Amino acid sequence: MAGFAAEADVAVVGAGAAGIAAARRLVEAGRARVQVLEARSRVGGRVHTIAPAGFPLDRGAEWLHSADRNPLSRIAQSLGFTVHRRPPEWTSRLSRSGETPEAEAEWLAVREAQNQARRQAALEPEDRSLASTLVPGCRWNQLLDASSTWGNGAELDRVSIKDYVRYDQNSTNVNWRLGEGYGRLFERLAEGLPIAFDTPVTRIDHRGRSLRLDTPRGTLTAARVIVTVPTSIIAAEAFRFEPALPDKVEAAAGLPLGVDNKAFIALGDAWRPEFAQNGFLVGSTRRRETMNYQLRPMGRPVIYTFFGGRFAAAMERAGPAAIFAFAADELAALLGADIRRHIALLTTTAWLADPWSRGSYSYALPGHSGDRAILAAPVEDRLFFAGEATSANDFSTAHGAYMSGLAAAEAVIASLGRGR
Ligand SMILES: Cc1cc2nc3c(=O)[nH]c(=O)nc-3n(C[C@H](O)[C@H](O)[C@H](O)COP(=O)(O)OP(=O)(O)OC[C@H]3O[C@@H](n4cnc5c(N)ncnc54)[C@H](O)[C@@H]3O)c2cc1C
Repeated sequence: MAGFAAEADVAVVGAGAAGIAAARRLVEAGRARVQVLEARSRVGGRVHTIAPAGFPLDRGAEWLHSADRNPLSRIAQSLGFTVHRRPPEWTSRLSRSGETPEAEAEWLAVREAQNQARRQAALEPEDRSLASTLVPGCRWNQLLDASSTWGNGAELDRVSIKDYVRYDQNSTNVNWRLGEGYGRLFERLAEGLPIAFDTPVTRIDHRGRSLRLDTPRGTLTAARVIVTVPTSIIAAEAFRFEPALPDKVEAAAGLPLGVDNKAFIALGDAWRPEFAQNGFLVGSTRRRETMNYQLRPMGRPVIYTFFGGRFAAAMERAGPAAIFAFAADELAALLGADIRRHIALLTTTAWLADPWSRGSYSYALPGHSGDRAILAAPVEDRLFFAGEATSANDFSTAHGAYMSGLAAAEAVIASLGRGR
């Protein structure tokens, strides 16, 4: 663990994907003394790999989204990581979830029609919610809503259509993942960086010639600062700017973090070996409050369970036993009661209660599609902002955060060149 310096040229607040990218770029450029300040006692933030059963599990980011243009795919390969390219088949194979092939085809047509309607609606002057394009009474509306809680962390009526479409139109829909875990990649990328752990920033004072960052370990002065903390932290004013930056706080409030959680459930080898790997199931296609399941992903003896939105927040509050009981009931209903004898809970996540994330990933409220640009804008050419929520097209992702960190570092290097 690196020490805490009282003075730096550039301070980076947060050692998640964005902070690691920014700090690496600055250190590589060799033109500035860098200090990263991280509230947790680990790197990675919302990308975190654990191995409670001997194989890696990603508590947060798992998929290299837009993997064919995601810079982290190439970096992971060059570092020797194992890249799994098998497509995830999210909600595209409903016949596995108790639906007939005809119903599955109908669902795929409805889903495509919704995509078209969203793109059309995004061209209109008014920024509406994703719920505004639903066809009233459509049999698939609950599954569309559940899918929104998985993709956006929030129900359709909470999500800006313009913001959503910016991501959707930019996505290549190629999704890969790393056998060793996404979190392990960021651990590698953070190696050797000057990171002070257990050092939450409580205030950034930008009144004087130098910026002053207050932490429980003392005050750091820096010429430039890159802030990468989640929008939830800025909106709640869990740390403050002095003088206040109401534009930033308002923009962060327009980009709340949705909630998505995971449960990892051990699955015995004796249970139906024909479900070899990666089978993706939806608990119910008729309820918004449902979970999805990946059976034996990458051939591992486990079920990955994923759930989002208000339902995920309520389940998180109910606790691991309730989460496991809900999942076991859905799995038994889909696959037969026998599965109960073959499953055991390994662990669950609780990203909403996590004090340094307070949620999972950002979405824009209807009418707030302009907030990402406001959040991303530098202040006085010395206070810079990065993090997934500042990304115009790749928000809510680890690679979006990573690229925003690189961009902020480039902006800092340019501003140091201009002097001040
Ligand atoms: C359940 C889940 C599943 C996901 N799945 C995927 C996926 O499959 N693919 C994908 O690309 N993305 C996924 N994501 C999203 C992805 O993890 C995030 O978008 C990305 O990691 C955010 O990186 P960041 O650097 O912007 O923020 P963070 O990772 O939150 O980093 C910010 C850092 O700042 C620190 N911090 C906070 N407050 C302070 C303070 N006051 N002082 C100092 N430090 C502070 C935090 O501890 C944290 O380390 C998922 C996220 C979750 C939770």
